[in-house]
Amino acid sequence: MQIGYRTDIGKSRLTNEDRLLARPPLLAVADGMGGAQAGEVASEMAIHVLWEAAPGGEPPQERLKQAILEANRRIFALANSDSRCAGMGTTLTAVLLENHMAYVGHVGDSRAYLVRGQHIRRLTQDQSVVGELMRLGYLSEAEAMVHPQRNILTQALGTEPHVQVELTQFPIEPGDRLVLCTDGLTSLVQDGEILDTLRQEREPQAAADRLVDLALDRGGYDNVTVVVAYIPPVSG
Ligand code: MG
Repeated sequence: MQIGYRTDIGKSRLTNEDRLLARPPLLAVADGMGGAQAGEVASEMAIHVLWEAAPGGEPPQERLKQAILEANRRIFALANSDSRCAGMGTTLTAVLLENHMAYVGHVGDSRAYLVRGQHIRRLTQDQSVVGELMRLGYLSEAEAMVHPQRNILTQALGTEPHVQVELTQFPIEPGDRLVLCTDGLTSLVQDGEILDTLRQEREPQAAADRLVDLALDRGGYDNVTVVVAYIPPVSG
């Protein structure tokens, strides 16, 4: 598997509260929120706990779920014991690749995509007010991308004692390409453009760079983070 990744502070934020993990078999992005430096603390903790807790004996999907629940407990506990961290939270979108399977665990509005052949598929649902409205048919994709409330999450890690982890799994095929990204990308770059970029770039690092550059060229209002993985095609 080949991996590319990049995170950028963007053009108007003072700190980068996005964090990423690109250590196969684990890939993840986290987009922190909260006053002062608290957003960074939350996203950093999410990635750290995930990395620490995800290896081990249980079935992969259960392990991933337990790691994300553990991250939630730890961030919530700190948010409620340290006033500097009050109200902090983070998204977390993680993919564990094991035994030719991809296990996806997700909380918040970062995204994971699968590019297979000519098609791109979202592997996660945006857990946001605007995401709900879109699924109910009240908003189009284009309307959702510019909606003033698009940053309001219905769920995040660390803000409540309990979270519902969205879990998906599917068999990986040779040639599959995966993208994990924060909303700093997807509020400015459409799914079709992500597909075109991955189909055109032979190297995942070039694809990650091009996607981040696209978001920056269009304003880069938020931190932008992208992790790209290319599963090798069958050779011969
Ligand atoms: Mg963001």
